[in-house]
Amino acid sequence: GAALPAALLPGTATLGVLGGGQLGRMFVHAAQALGYRCIVLDPDAISPAGAVAEQHIQAGYLDSLGLARLARDCDAITTEFENVPAVALQTLAGMRVVAPAAASVAVCQDRAVEKAHFEAAGVPCAPHAVITSDVELAAVNPALLPGILKTSRMGYDGKGQVRVRTVAELATAWSDLKRVPCVLEQLLPLKAELSVLVARGADGQLVNYPVQQNLHRDGILAVTEVPAPDVPADVAAQAVAAARQVAQALNYVGVLCVEFFWLDDGRLVVNEMAPRPHNSGHWTMNGANVSQFELQVRALAGLPLPMPRQHSASVMLNLLGDLWFPPAGGPTTPAWSQVLALPGTHLHLYGKSEARPGRKMGHLNITAETPEAAHAVALQAAALLG
Ligand code: ADP
Ligand code: MG
Repeated sequence: GAALPAALLPGTATLGVLGGGQLGRMFVHAAQALGYRCIVLDPDAISPAGAVAEQHIQAGYLDSLGLARLARDCDAITTEFENVPAVALQTLAGMRVVAPAAASVAVCQDRAVEKAHFEAAGVPCAPHAVITSDVELAAVNPALLPGILKTSRMGYDGKGQVRVRTVAELATAWSDLKRVPCVLEQLLPLKAELSVLVARGADGQLVNYPVQQNLHRDGILAVTEVPAPDVPADVAAQAVAAARQVAQALNYVGVLCVEFFWLDDGRLVVNEMAPRPHNSGHWTMNGANVSQFELQVRALAGLPLPMPRQHSASVMLNLLGDLWFPPAGGPTTPAWSQVLALPGTHLHLYGKSEARPGRKMGHLNITAETPEAAHAVALQAAALLG
């Protein structure tokens, strides 16, 4: 293949980020720690990442002037937002190093394409059918019911999904979703949800973190525990191998998160993937010797990717805006002093101007010598937070 570009050495280069959310903010922090300058492109005047980067280009993702400025002033560019139009990444790739590639991000943007990729990579996913027409709707195998109808594009945090029990409910749900292309997935009995983060370099170096066990509430990640408390070694090894296989088959460059369902019958199926650092990997900021954000910086810059080492048992609690609105009494600031008095607590707030229910405001990492100790502190912290 083509020669790899020379590494962008720390202290000598500027890295660009498409998207100004919390993932971009934590990427910028990691990049700045290594001595890179950062430029964030985001349409909002105020954003978590824009506020900490050396420069914020306020422009839409398809604004050609904004993209041209980003390419002019950055040596390499990544994205923190998987729904950034693939054509924006393609445009930038004509001018600069871009990772992950537009083609990889495009696969992750469409559930139907993503599932086809999993199957091609030899990794089983949930039984499903693609629905883009009345003919396909009528042809759906009733064995897929009860199921979950999901829009193929733009879904996140459980949005764009409807649970359906019957053929009639399926038809109604598809109309309610405005008949956009969808995937119907069989509703599977989940023992637990798992994820694995991998990082891959342009030279093919591939490293991974240990398997993560994730608890969702209302379709939004609530808690991640590592080591995964309920997962036997053979299932963990299977998840790690599958995630590495998925990244390899995409010729992926950057950090990739692969999410799995671990079923009641013991089988492991892949759910979806995210072409970026992931909420379930936030524990790595305090529980591992290199964070997922530093690995993203390294992969983008062409630096070595060391195999990460988990040094502490970790629990991550997501902090949603609901915590600022307790059921009794008016809006409040959560009890940070009490929480931070607990051993091994590490608070990360994203600098969002205003708390709203369901909004990701930050996360609390808890590290300890043993999983039991981390779990116990997490329970105490959760009780203090209400
Ligand atoms: P999102 O892109 O919104 O994260 P997911 O496809 O991951 O969408 O679905 C969100 C959550 O809904 C999952 O984490 C899981 O808890 C539940 N879920 C999704 N698909 C299934 C399924 N086929 N069977 C059982 N639960 C599911
Ligand atoms: Mg998900």
